[in-house]
Amino acid sequence: MVELAPQASVQKEGQRQDVKALLAQSYAGDTYNTAVYIARGGVSVSYVTLLGDDPYSEEVLTRLAGEGIDTSAIVRLPGRCPGLYMIQNTPDGERYFTYWRGEAPARELFADPARRDALKAHLLQMDCLYLSGITLAIMSEEARAELLSFLGEYRAQGGRVAFDSNYRPRLWASKDAARDAVGQFLQQADMALLTFEDEQALWGDKRPGSCAKRNAGFGVAELVIKRGAEPVLLQREGELTAIDVPPVSSVVDTTGAGDSFNAGYLAARLQGATPEQSIAAGNRCAARVIGHRGAIIPRDEYLAAVATDALADVAC
Ligand code: ADP
Repeated sequence: MVELAPQASVQKEGQRQDVKALLAQSYAGDTYNTAVYIARGGVSVSYVTLLGDDPYSEEVLTRLAGEGIDTSAIVRLPGRCPGLYMIQNTPDGERYFTYWRGEAPARELFADPARRDALKAHLLQMDCLYLSGITLAIMSEEARAELLSFLGEYRAQGGRVAFDSNYRPRLWASKDAARDAVGQFLQQADMALLTFEDEQALWGDKRPGSCAKRNAGFGVAELVIKRGAEPVLLQREGELTAIDVPPVSSVVDTTGAGDSFNAGYLAARLQGATPEQSIAAGNRCAARVIGHRGAIIPRDEYLAAVATDALADVAC
């Protein structure tokens, strides 16, 4: 999506920015954010979506290529343009989104039978597929069923699936429809990277324990539950452990916190780190992102921060 983010903190205590705030334009989206930060973490990434043939779609492709991300499976639909969203923040960095994405080409993912076979062949070459509840919510029901059955085939051939429920109520016809779809995809997930707030909104969980129990029932072998500044929970082989989140001194915008955490986690995990080490990597990645306005930190700035963190680790 095209992203419009307020440039500076002009809001009153406890309130969102004025709708007239100066805006900075960029590009973002949940899986896009994760793809960018995984690639910056040193893992080769192919991003799959549909775009238009407008200048903004062109710029998305340029930026993905600039991150070293493969764009060969991205399809472009003539006469269309990407979705758009705007961010508002409160002084503590909490974010509120407004979306315009009814016509977004990404809604047609997996929908065209003629293109589906080529896409499946492309995906079968990957070690791991990452998708989110937003991916599912914007697809047609038929396309979602096709994707679900493809995931079964993909896993049977040794592929691993990582999933974040990213529940956004307005994208779903009903809570039951969301539960049905998310539940089915969790049954095909090897790794679930969930945000407790989303799980509470979708399933009514009072405590993380009920979230952990439900996901064990879905057969999720590796479950990570993100809870903002609260410790991250990890469930593996029936054991639930809590891993602290280091404090972040200046939180300006939590946009992309969960997505960047997922990227840090997956980049580490796919390069052989343990889940505990991968959670620490997820926390580090998210800490950088929430100290910045908008979902994507400019590449040079991000890589400089990674280098500084690495030096600090050596010094410690
Ligand atoms: P989401 O963006 O999906 O709502 P969370 O708010 O749970 O996700 O945050 C995801 C991750 O971002 C956390 O696990 C943590 O690593 C980091 N994070 C978010 N908020 C804070 C905070 N206030 N202080 C430190 N880290 C945070």
